[in-house]
Amino acid sequence: MPDTTRQPKAAPLIDTRRCSGCGRCVAVCPERIITLETTHHRKHAVITEPHRCTTCGRCITVCPLEAISSSPF
Ligand code: SF4
Ligand code: SF4
Repeated sequence: MPDTTRQPKAAPLIDTRRCSGCGRCVAVCPERIITLETTHHRKHAVITEPHRCTTCGRCITVCPLEAISSSPF
């Protein structure tokens, strides 16, 4: 039987429509996997390597616009 008690955790989700591109999440991520990108002339944060996320939650805590949420796992 598969071990369902140890399912992998996932990186948070960034709501790019809510994000203002302030860069706070970029600054606090210890893995340095969040960067700012510009899409349709709007700057927003992107998690570039979600598989490297340790799910520490710092980016979620620091976002002033609640644009980052933990994904269900
Ligand atoms: S949860 Fe932690 S490691 Fe994952 S993207 Fe956010 S700050 Fe980085
Ligand atoms: S902290 Fe929030 S608003 Fe600022 S860049 Fe990150 S996701 Fe966007």
